[in-house]
Amino acid sequence: MIEVRNGERGERAQSVGSDYVTNRLLARNRIAVRRRSELAKFPRMRLAIVTCMDCRIDVYEALGLTSGDANVLRNAGGIVTDDVIRSLVLSQRLLGTREVILMHHTDCGLHDLDEERFVDDLAAASGARPPFEFGAFRDVDDDVRRSLARVIDSPFVAEKGSVRGFVYDVATAQVREVRP
Ligand SMILES: [Zn+2]
Repeated sequence: MIEVRNGERGERAQSVGSDYVTNRLLARNRIAVRRRSELAKFPRMRLAIVTCMDCRIDVYEALGLTSGDANVLRNAGGIVTDDVIRSLVLSQRLLGTREVILMHHTDCGLHDLDEERFVDDLAAASGARPPFEFGAFRDVDDDVRRSLARVIDSPFVAEKGSVRGFVYDVATAQVREVRP
């Protein structure tokens, strides 16, 4: 946990600013460099996972993974956008992954978001309307099914032998499968 305290002397006080956390993490990176072991770039489980950016989801802990096991793609909602398709295609064609796991979750910020109002507010604040959808949804299972369909319907994703969707419960860490 990084604390930001004002009024202190020395390095800590000088670091307080918009990039204070970033600078602290760079210091931690020096420790990570010392601990690093060599990994292949090809995911050893031949697996790609698409999930939400939610900070409560530790994908590695939730599924018992370690670095080098899988390609992990994250965005708000874990929804399958064109950019996720782009990454999946590269994951499969260049890095040899075969299975796909989509993992959405309970209590997502996009659940019951009023997207129309959110976009209107954003347009008023920024002077421009975004060319993308934010992906608000009402039913998490339906949201998983929508993402499953986008992978399965994509002509660019070749490996579809195992494309499965799940909901991660942020309260219990339990993963539940959603039937397509
Ligand atoms: Zn989320």
